Order: sequence, then structure tokens, then C-alpha cells
Amino acid sequence: MKNVHVINHPLVQHKLSLMRNKEASTNSFRRLLNELSMLMAYEVTRDMPMHHVTIETPLETMSAPMIDGKKLVFVSILRAGNGILDGMLSVVPGARVGHIGLYRDPKTLKAVEYYFKMPQEMTSRDIIVVDPMLATGNSAIAAVERLKQLQPRSIKFVCLLTCPEGVKAMNDAHPDVPVYTAAIDRELNDHGYILPGLGDAGDRMFGTK
Ligand code: URA
Repeated sequence: MKNVHVINHPLVQHKLSLMRNKEASTNSFRRLLNELSMLMAYEVTRDMPMHHVTIETPLETMSAPMIDGKKLVFVSILRAGNGILDGMLSVVPGARVGHIGLYRDPKTLKAVEYYFKMPQEMTSRDIIVVDPMLATGNSAIAAVERLKQLQPRSIKFVCLLTCPEGVKAMNDAHPDVPVYTAAIDRELNDHGYILPGLGDAGDRMFGTK
């Protein structure tokens, strides 16, 4: 599969297995998602641009590498994307945050935007779009399409779980957008759920079912 990075670090895989278990409480699901998001942020920011600044250590002057966190924008696809934001922000506290809300029109089955709020001047920024599940890919594809209109410097997509159908749909629509995920599961079922998956990520993290 093209342009997909599976983060198979043992800590990521272990926490994902704990989240999949249907016995996991809302509380532990949310905590694990938070921890996983920090670990995924570490991987997805691996190639972030750096600049050097002059600092004084107690002993000498040196040129020290720094990231420009403000150039990074985490874009959450509502509502489940919000579960990934906190963890990512705890490791890149200077990042900006955008939100995009989409619902599926029951007649056309197309993604319709109901909310869109981004930081200013997106052309100089690197975007990391977050949504725990890349299933049919419809909302992710629509979100990326909309964000491309703002001509950001780069776009990456991060999810916890995906399936071959989701990766293919995303690669076909946006071959230039790399997908970072903790696992590519077996398949998508007729109701748009990933198998074996972890169920409805939004309901499990917010306790709405
Ligand atoms: N969204 C979810 O929350 N779970 C799935 O399995 C697919 C989409």
C-alpha cells in the first residue's frame, strides 16, 4: 500500500489492544487514546522542520535546534478527532488547532460541512488532520479537499485504525497525503465499521452508548 505508515511500536500496539477490548471502560478508553496520541505525535512529527537559535548554556554559547510549533496545525474531524487532540497538544503545546464538522447526507451519502474554523494564514502551515477511524474515507477525503483550498505547506492524516478500503480511498483521492495509523485491520463491513476494529470510537470515548 502506498503512502501509509503503520506505527508498530510495541507501546502503541499494546495500548491499541487494550482499547479494542469491549470490556475497557470509557475512562480507560479515553486515557489510552490520550497516551496513544502522544506516541503517534512523536512519529508523525519526526520530519518536522527545525531551525537553530543561539542560546547560552551555563558554560557556553551554542546554536541549538528548535521546532516552530506555531507552524503546526492539528485539525480535528468532529467529534471523535477531539479524542486525539489533547495527547498531541501535550507534546506540541504551541500547535494551533482547527475543527471541521461533517455529517453524511442520508440521501446522497455525501459528506456535508457544518462547521469549519481554522487559524489565520494557513499557507505557511503544516497540517496534521486527526480522526481515530479511517473507515470508508468519505469524511477524511472531504476534510482534506476542503483544507487543500487553503493551500497549506503540507497535510498529513493520523488515525488509530484503518482498513484496506479506507487506505485505498484516501490514496486514490489524495495520493500526496501520507496516512499514519497504528493498524490496518481486515475489512470494512456493510455498515461502515472496521473489523475487527474497536467499535464506535466516538461513543466509546464519550460514553454516549
Ligand atoms: N467509525 C467508528 O467509530 N468505528 C468504525 O469502525 C468505523 C467508523
